[in-house]
Amino acid sequence: MMPAVTKKPFSEFEALLQSQRTQLLGELREKISASGEGLGFANQSKFTDDDAVADAAAEMDVALVIRESRDLQEIEAALARIVEGSYGVCTDCEGEISRPRLKAYPMAARCLTCQEIFERTHGQAHKVRL
Ligand SMILES: [Zn+2]
Repeated sequence: MMPAVTKKPFSEFEALLQSQRTQLLGELREKISASGEGLGFANQSKFTDDDAVADAAAEMDVALVIRESRDLQEIEAALARIVEGSYGVCTDCEGEISRPRLKAYPMAARCLTCQEIFERTHGQAHKVRL
């Protein structure tokens, strides 16, 4: 059980995450509408010769959107942890995540040590093939 807190200990990070979330949502919206226009989804059947080119462009856009969505997912998860009271605690070793690390990377779910291990063991899964 977490002790009851009268004031949020992570309100500065919450504000930071909220503003990053707003910014990211705006960028995602722009990218999706830009890629939709660029590819001319409505007129795609007219450009069958360029399918390979269009597909490659679509894949790059999708990869970009997916990567940014993962950031968004991490931000959402971090905001949820603030609400739950588990923010700032490493999900792997349950140790405290240092404040300098949170300041540099407010959506951090792991301490630096566990993050390095995670990236070494799960790094491949995060690479997007183009
Ligand atoms: Zn850890």
